[in-house]
Amino acid sequence: MSSFKTLDDLGDVTGKVALVRVDLNLPMKDGSATDVTRVEAVKPTILELADKGAKVLLLAHFGRPKGQRHSTMSTSFVQGDVEKVLDKEIMFIPEVMGPVVEQSIGILSDGDIGLLDNVRFWPGEEANDPEFAKGIAAHGNFYVNDAFSAAHRAHASTEGLAHHLPAYAGRAMEAELKALDAALGNPEQPVAAVVGGAKVSTKLDVLENLVGKVQHLIIGGGMANTFLAARGVDVGKSLCEHDLTDTANRIIDQADHAGCTVHLPYDVVVAKEFAANPSSMRVCNVHEVAEDEMILDVGPQAVEALGDVLKTCRTLVWNGPMGAFETEPFDAATVALAKTAAALTEGGSLTSVAGGGDTVAALAHAGAKDDFTFVSTAGGAFLEWMEGKALPGVAALTA
Ligand code: ADP
Ligand code: MG
Repeated sequence: MSSFKTLDDLGDVTGKVALVRVDLNLPMKDGSATDVTRVEAVKPTILELADKGAKVLLLAHFGRPKGQRHSTMSTSFVQGDVEKVLDKEIMFIPEVMGPVVEQSIGILSDGDIGLLDNVRFWPGEEANDPEFAKGIAAHGNFYVNDAFSAAHRAHASTEGLAHHLPAYAGRAMEAELKALDAALGNPEQPVAAVVGGAKVSTKLDVLENLVGKVQHLIIGGGMANTFLAARGVDVGKSLCEHDLTDTANRIIDQADHAGCTVHLPYDVVVAKEFAANPSSMRVCNVHEVAEDEMILDVGPQAVEALGDVLKTCRTLVWNGPMGAFETEPFDAATVALAKTAAALTEGGSLTSVAGGGDTVAALAHAGAKDDFTFVSTAGGAFLEWMEGKALPGVAALTA
């Protein structure tokens, strides 16, 4: 991994103004956040800078205002939630540059925290306009990016600012980059990847990148049906992208050439209707799926064999559930495999990194989330990283 500067590389910051990009795009209900995980994630960076005597200016987006002021999308709506998590009062500043920001900085004491308004109120943000970035940069002495979840976007606050100020990774960004490097950048081998979820079409680039990098590719979820069908298996009424037969076969060939073993389920859980505990549910071999049945989870024998594969591996990267885990008992394979991975991680034989919206929910449901080495909540940025793409926000820090 190319190197980047962290907060450890900062000298004396007393009285200096830190422009800190954070993710405060919180899910809201009735005017307050329903989940403050994102604030918890950036808390160490904010408090560390404040404790060192910097004036900390938080820079974030909130919703999609498309370059215009929107009274419902001001970051002032999350001020209270941020204050609660930090256990500190912060000052809301209804601009991102200009005299109001200048005056506010004058009022802030060393160690105080200010919250700038939604940076996406200005079109220069998403256009990554260098003049816009320069205007913001003029208020700060240095820039800290602690928003990995926005690092796949080349916006002024996620990428542009790094060209105008000395740039550092915040603690959350640092932890994320180290974990991702340990999982795919420079992993201990053998490496296993679990890829599941609904569709192959949304994860083609992920699969193509992984076959060249991992020794075991475990395919589950709805996307396994597409691979099974491509191998000539009749998958009945299952979710399946029959038009991707050639693509699935090409990925299997690429894996063959790269020495990557592709694991498809050989037993599955099927049902005639998609509901909780349907009476039509049964476990069968993949070759015994009836015309009116659909595959909703990986079967118990395959799960056991996959657990044995993980036991031979040193590193695991996981995106996508093994089955339709939101509906019981089609969570069984996901839960069992997640528990195996968690136990191996706890035992010290496996480094486990996972990410993806539904994946995080599935691991939490399995009670395995806290035992994984690292679970990324970064959604789109995590997937682009799994696709092997350079993330502009990260590249700007490492330049
Ligand atoms: P993530 O958000 O972690 O990247 P995805 O969005 O790709 O994951 O996939 C999650 C969805 O895939 C879940 O809603 C789950 O119900 C669905 N899914 C998994 N297996 C199946 C299956 N066999 N049939 C239909 N849907 C499935
Ligand atoms: Mg999803």
